[in-house]
Amino acid sequence: MNIIPADSSAIGKQIYALIKDLFPICRSITGNGVRQTLKIVGKHIPLSVYEVPTGTQVFDWTVPKEWNIRDAWVKDSRGRKVIDFQKSNLHVVNYSIPFKGKMPLAELEPHLFSLPEHPDWVPYRTTYYKETWGFCLSHNQLRSLEEGDYEVCIDSTLADGSLTFGEYVIPGELKDEILISTHVCHPSLANDNLSGVCTAAFLAKHLADQKLRFSYRFLFIPGTIGAITWLHRNFDEVGRIKHGLVLTGVGDPGGITYKKSRRGDAAIDRAVVHVLRNSADNYSVEDFSPYGYDERQYCSPGFNLPVGRFSRTPYGKYPEYHTSGDNLDFVRVGSLSESVTVLINILGILEGDRTYTNLAPHCEPQLGKRGLYDQIGPNQLAMLWVLNLSDGHHSLLDIAERSKIDFESIREAATVLLKFQLLE
Ligand code: ZN
Repeated sequence: MNIIPADSSAIGKQIYALIKDLFPICRSITGNGVRQTLKIVGKHIPLSVYEVPTGTQVFDWTVPKEWNIRDAWVKDSRGRKVIDFQKSNLHVVNYSIPFKGKMPLAELEPHLFSLPEHPDWVPYRTTYYKETWGFCLSHNQLRSLEEGDYEVCIDSTLADGSLTFGEYVIPGELKDEILISTHVCHPSLANDNLSGVCTAAFLAKHLADQKLRFSYRFLFIPGTIGAITWLHRNFDEVGRIKHGLVLTGVGDPGGITYKKSRRGDAAIDRAVVHVLRNSADNYSVEDFSPYGYDERQYCSPGFNLPVGRFSRTPYGKYPEYHTSGDNLDFVRVGSLSESVTVLINILGILEGDRTYTNLAPHCEPQLGKRGLYDQIGPNQLAMLWVLNLSDGHHSLLDIAERSKIDFESIREAATVLLKFQLLE
């Protein structure tokens, strides 16, 4: 089985258009923002949406109260809105408790957050596990605030409700699964992680009508608590996950960065490295570390799943990260196109990797008499490598790595040898 390539520029444009649709929504780890997002994603792929009640115990964590917000603002003494949630949802600290009050600037200031090093950008801040409130604004805005009394309003609710996540399973020939997981909890930020959400959606859509060997499970979940909740609910079934990727930050102009699974030498790690080495000009590969996105949960020692992280510039390594600079201008159609093409190539290796046995292992089989010796060059060499290493212990990916020949040529050589009954 082989995955059909996508029209990369067309798919990149579709991903970008969906990012644009989802950008204005105020998402968080719970609440209507996630529901609305999943509803829109659900127009492209048939998502199953799950609700897990507040208070549900999931390993060492508890599903939090649900947060929703309608409006938030700060007015100066002349009644002018100097901070306005309607202009950007980044202006309110995500998960701020409801609040109404009047106070002098000195009392308001501890609740205001800005970025002196990037004075035009509004930072993104959250207060998930501490019940407080706050506003984010550009440093220039902060400096322009005059002494005097300010009226503050946060029209939010933090109450029992549920945590929402979306899931889409594409059945393949095998029950064994490839997991693609992406977080849906950030408000108006384009690269982190609407790029991941929308790339996952269109990758799923691309795979949906193909004949697949593996089953595919796409998760659209709030970061950390969503992954923990999902793993808790699916504790008995995670053994089906044979390969997996966390997708995040796949639209910025930087090169691709792959972070290996905790195992370090899982097939997913080797498949990604092989594709990057053979197709990307500018990429880097990092070893696992117990910090980052939801790979932390999938690779926790009790699970130790073969799940790596696929990103472009790593979080925190671009100044726009978690600020209003991570906007619709920061993500590029070209980067999205490249990301999805590389992902399809990685899945192509996982789908096509097989282990064969050479049926004529005593000395080389005479390729000439079968008409297989005419072509000189890489295909010839690929055939010799496949024959030599197909001893039932080396997969096609092993052979591609050892021979330094690209996987596709190795796979083609194996297909020819199978046809001539030199492999089984
Ligand atoms: Zn983030």
